Amino acid sequence: MRVGFVGLGTMGAAMATRLLAAGFDVTVHNRTRAREEPLAELGAARAADPAEAARGAEMVVVIVSDTPDVDQVVFGPDGIAAGLAPGALVVDMSTIAPDATRTYAARIAEQGATWLDAPVSGGSEGAKNGTLSIMVGGDAADLERARPVLSAMGTTITHVGPVGSGQLAKAMNQVVIAGTYAAVAEGIVLGLKAGIDVEAALAALAGGAAGSWGLVHRGPNVVRNDYPLGFRVRLHRKDLGIALDAARALGAPLPVAALVEQWETGLIARGHGDEDVSAIARVVREQAGLDDD
Ligand code: NAP
Repeated sequence: MRVGFVGLGTMGAAMATRLLAAGFDVTVHNRTRAREEPLAELGAARAADPAEAARGAEMVVVIVSDTPDVDQVVFGPDGIAAGLAPGALVVDMSTIAPDATRTYAARIAEQGATWLDAPVSGGSEGAKNGTLSIMVGGDAADLERARPVLSAMGTTITHVGPVGSGQLAKAMNQVVIAGTYAAVAEGIVLGLKAGIDVEAALAALAGGAAGSWGLVHRGPNVVRNDYPLGFRVRLHRKDLGIALDAARALGAPLPVAALVEQWETGLIARGHGDEDVSAIARVVREQAGLDDD
């Protein structure tokens, strides 16, 4: 199958590498063209613009930063829409707004092509190892067409519902992460203030009902007050913005997510936007007098 692939950032480069390893005929494009070179060495064709990546492709994968960026690479000058054949499939794996997603899908449908929103969870490790969780919105038959390609990038591929549902599932994911990381930080700060053996306490918590991926893999960051990537604070704040906009429109108050979004805004202002999202613990630690910033 001929696959166009637009966006070779942290996630996209690793995901396109998985597609090449699985034997797909991949044509890549990235705004900063130099990022195409390592993929070309692995056998990818290079396209001068997104339209060229889409020309002749049965499926075009997009993974860029935010909603305006998807708009740009799909509908901008020399965008994917300009090269897309009728019957082709656009699979947007970026994390963007669900309402814009529905608009984009409708515009693509006008030219006889279809859209799946397929945002991912699992981080850069998941992208490298092909173990992403992929949340899919769109037509079930389109998902079946895309499944061989998605299976090269992820191990959990879930059809959530119609177009936009994948992005809403991803928004849920980011809201849960906000609350989990905030609670992990508060629990650990309590232990640190009490002066108990927090490493031992964390081992005990991991084996009980408080155990979670965030506690096990990011709790030690909070203890050390060191937050290597990971997933950037600034990307998580972008995702909480998407979740909070959707929630406001739907009449769903999300006070914990809103608080964490505000903490993240302050962290970015203080130069911590490129640390791992567990850096929200900085706020909790500072409020407890453990550190000055
Ligand atoms: P990244 O490393 O910052 O890469 C962003 C990519 O988007 C680059 O290829 C960049 O091109 C391209 N891009 C951005 N704006 C563009 C525009 N206006 N026109 C053309 N290309 C544009 O980001 P990432 O970590 O790969 O994340 C990509 C998406 O996956 C985001 O929606 C993110 O929320 C989501 N995601 C990330 C993770 C993670 O752990 N990193 C996990 C799950 C989901 P240039 O190279 O030219 O800048």
